[in-house]
Amino acid sequence: MVEPWLKEIMGSYNLESYESRNSYAAQLHMPGKIFQSLVWWALKSLPDEILVGLDIDFMQQQNPEVDQLFTSTQQVDGLFQGQGYLINEAHIVNRGDSYSVHHLPEDWTDDIFAPSRGARAGRFTHWLHTHPNAPAIPSGADADAAQETPGVDLILGLRFSPSGPLPWFDDVEGKRRILGKEAVREVAAKKASVWTTKSDLSVIGTAPSGHMIHEVQLIAFHKTGLGVNVIFTDENNLPYGWDSIRSN
Ligand SMILES: [Zn+2]
Repeated sequence: MVEPWLKEIMGSYNLESYESRNSYAAQLHMPGKIFQSLVWWALKSLPDEILVGLDIDFMQQQNPEVDQLFTSTQQVDGLFQGQGYLINEAHIVNRGDSYSVHHLPEDWTDDIFAPSRGARAGRFTHWLHTHPNAPAIPSGADADAAQETPGVDLILGLRFSPSGPLPWFDDVEGKRRILGKEAVREVAAKKASVWTTKSDLSVIGTAPSGHMIHEVQLIAFHKTGLGVNVIFTDENNLPYGWDSIRSN
């Protein structure tokens, strides 16, 4: 079961993905059910970042009608491994700080995942890692780690409270993709240059871990630096908010 608030913000993200489709080189369909797990895992693993391996089902292609509608004028075919196929598995592979989260011994994952993953062993197609209380914008270490990725790299940024040892870190340049309306940051608070208090932030949802979620961000990119457009899909492989996108 995907939470209604999450469905709603995935729908508005999709609409934005549709409207800005021509600025991307490729598209990636992300099942909402898997995405919800990623958000819950990210919050359960605090204060660490987590690294999640994502796999695709080579028997299941992305919905062709949706593919067509989201096709970019900049589209690059065959840009990455698994392009056009549905994501069907997610596994937490590592946790740590922003540097150590990327550095996992390949043979270690091979051992853990080999029995269930057959010949491909620990080698995942796509990789996602989290930025707890920070925007989803790649660091230098993130760009380096992406060079080993056959598919695409994704970053999930979350703003939440209680923030524990991780106050919101916002001093990063880059393009943001926010799900839903950006959390309300009080202009007045900024003007007075005081910290924003809890009451300044709108709560878009609550996680099973008890955290209040203020903002969810997701980006995907190819190791060449090209942006990949993410479309959140429901159990019928259709985008959340499909009706309003189609009639757009
Ligand atoms: Zn990172």
